[in-house]
Amino acid sequence: MDLSRFPRRRYSQGPSPIEFLPNFTKALGGPRVWIKRDDMLGLAPGGNKTRKLEFLMGDALAKGADTLVTCGAPQSNHCRITLAAAVKEGLKCRFVIEERVPGSYKFDATGNQFMYRLLGVEAVTVVPGGSNMAEAMEKVAQEVRASGGKPYIIPGGGSNAIGGLGYVACAQELQQQLLQMGQSMDHFVVGSGSSGTHGGLVAGFLGNNIQIPLVGIGVSRDPSDQNPLVHKEAQAILDLLGVKIQVPAEAVLSFGDWWRPKYSIPNPAMVEAVQMLARTEAILLDPVYTGKIMAGLIGLSRKGYFKPTDNVLFLHTGGATALHAYESVVLGDPADAA
Ligand SMILES: *Cc1c(COP(=O)(O)O)cnc(C)c1O
Repeated sequence: MDLSRFPRRRYSQGPSPIEFLPNFTKALGGPRVWIKRDDMLGLAPGGNKTRKLEFLMGDALAKGADTLVTCGAPQSNHCRITLAAAVKEGLKCRFVIEERVPGSYKFDATGNQFMYRLLGVEAVTVVPGGSNMAEAMEKVAQEVRASGGKPYIIPGGGSNAIGGLGYVACAQELQQQLLQMGQSMDHFVVGSGSSGTHGGLVAGFLGNNIQIPLVGIGVSRDPSDQNPLVHKEAQAILDLLGVKIQVPAEAVLSFGDWWRPKYSIPNPAMVEAVQMLARTEAILLDPVYTGKIMAGLIGLSRKGYFKPTDNVLFLHTGGATALHAYESVVLGDPADAA
């Protein structure tokens, strides 16, 4: 698959590392768990949104934009990383924040909200949960135009066809890495939210004949709602690339058991996963995404979904900045997070 005709900015040096996790594997009692460190990508600190923004910023700059407009939850990694990309490129950046939990956006809060201020967000509009985010962002874009600026709207999570190209690039990077390592993988466990990550990997795996089964862990939806989103994203990416493949329904698999009680609200399995990775491998997961995604890997291992001899690769999508907004929860007894 040829990505070279799409303008791209680079925010990371080389491929993200793949590491074996011997202590965690031992604590879990198998399978053999590996991790791909997309939490070590660039952009203050980076994560999966860094890869999407390489292509989105390429497009924004090609179109002459001077102000980014995007949206997210109060503790949004996507908003932080988009703002960081804007800073690097000398652009301004405005957010529309959706308060899915009423009262959860506070100007002086910690975690990502602190980072918004430190990195210098230009303006924040807070709207109630369930608002039409596309409309709210269009309104902000109108304000930018009215004051003589050129806005570029990036959808939530950076998950459109252009953003998804970042995870096609990741699929190609992974293929090269495994070839050089001489290591095959039996499963690849990835988070599934706004779906650019999961959908981009589905597209990249199909287009590059990578046959490692992708196991999506939903962070906000059950498979009946999540899989169609991922399928649509993967198809849109292949169409943009001009690759004549129809995404088969069975190429999209996800599990929905670990996101409850609600997106961004803690549960005991998340706390256990965050503590386990910190205390066996000194790897920081986050409470909203990777803690729940790793809880899925742990849960599926205990259920016997993975064989003890399987090599299972986990995608670390970043997010540890949000840990500071959840300190007492992740230090506490997992049972207290029920
Ligand atoms: C956004 C995000 C995800 C989910 O990725 P999508 O592409 O939105 O599905 C997973 N982990 C972290 C840390 C994130 O910030």
